[in-house]
Amino acid sequence: MSHVKPRRISILGATGSVGTSTLSLIEENPGKYEVEALTANRDVVSLAATARRVGAKLAVVADPKSYGALKAALSGSGIEVAAGDQAVIDAAARPADLVMAAIVGAAGLHPTLSACRSGAVVAFANKECLVCAGPLMLAEVAKYGTRLLPVDSEHSAVFQVFDAARKGAVAKIILTASGGPFRTWPRARMEGASIAQAVAHPVWSMGSKISIDSATMMNKGLEIIEAHFLFGIPESQIDVVVHPQSVIHSLVEYHDGSTLAQLGTPDMRTPIAVALAWPDRMPVVAPGLDLAKIGQLTFETADPVRFPALAFARRALQIGGDAPTILNAANETAVANFLAGRIGFLDIERVVESALETLPNSVPVTIDDVVAIDKEARVFAEGFIGAQLTRRSVSTGL
Ligand code: NAD
Ligand code: MG
Repeated sequence: MSHVKPRRISILGATGSVGTSTLSLIEENPGKYEVEALTANRDVVSLAATARRVGAKLAVVADPKSYGALKAALSGSGIEVAAGDQAVIDAAARPADLVMAAIVGAAGLHPTLSACRSGAVVAFANKECLVCAGPLMLAEVAKYGTRLLPVDSEHSAVFQVFDAARKGAVAKIILTASGGPFRTWPRARMEGASIAQAVAHPVWSMGSKISIDSATMMNKGLEIIEAHFLFGIPESQIDVVVHPQSVIHSLVEYHDGSTLAQLGTPDMRTPIAVALAWPDRMPVVAPGLDLAKIGQLTFETADPVRFPALAFARRALQIGGDAPTILNAANETAVANFLAGRIGFLDIERVVESALETLPNSVPVTIDDVVAIDKEARVFAEGFIGAQLTRRSVSTGL
């Protein structure tokens, strides 16, 4: 890498799957990066150990009750300590060259916006915040001239083959999907799917929320919305193809019939490295592809009957306004209830569909409007679950 000065980095969601992969790349490139701030929700032990190891200047927990434990764990280290939601937002605004936005869920909205306003390049993993506040977040990005670098593997792939200067030449974005653990399951079998079966992703090892989203294929639905906002391409020009090997990470088709794809071993460290080193390339992140050994790449149509979440996400984009906010909040609530063993697997889509059908639509004008709509949709989803779903017996499989 050609940078002489180390790149100063903050990581929001440092204890998660994307956060720890980011830290592993930083630690493998000594002298290239310097860690400013690390944040986590409440995993004090892991946050403190990491902050000491990489010499972070600041460590922040969102949970105010964890402040004492973090302070104790970092005593004598010289690392600043803070706690609470506002402290996470402030950490995101600390002077840095790059902020990795890797909090899970809409909880990352304010911290990610804070990073976007800070002047740093934002490596963008936290798709839910763009789904819930798309146009308003993009307005902030435009106002502050923020460079957003996609980290989601599909969007990193599109970013690498997308001709941003000739957007009019793009016919389609084609997002690949692994199909998740239930790719071949009939609906009747999915109805009884356990938590353990749903989080066991066949290709990727990820946080529990995105793993469940992959099983319902809501993850691909959220990614259609994410791609629409990141690349400014209409929903009708974003296709999904199931590709179980996850070697092609996505494709861009141009009007002349040429289609460009990005390939690589399915390892999140590669798209993370693309963002961390951008516009350079980081050496030896993952083994190269042995295509002859792989032998075959296969493709299937995504089945909208077995995976209605895809259709819900498209509908939310077509409705526009706050529909993606409602979709995301209802999904987050449903996934949390599924992970807590309170509802069954297919109940997740019932919650999302009901929220989309029932809640009135409006167009949020401010971020506060988004937050209010997000909250209303969560209250609706909890109410729907309490009234309609929890009386049925649920097998958690744990
Ligand atoms: P994870 O659950 O492993 O980690 C989430 C991180 O966010 C943790 O550090 C946690 O402490 C923090 N966090 C959770 N709730 C918080 C709150 N209320 N306030 C502040 N911090 C909070 O999640 P992950 O799998 O690393 O995913 C992170 C984001 O990246 C998600 O938006 C996900 O969709 C996206 N993403 C992940 C992967 C992957 O391979 N894991 C791939 C593509 C995109
Ligand atoms: Mg993805």
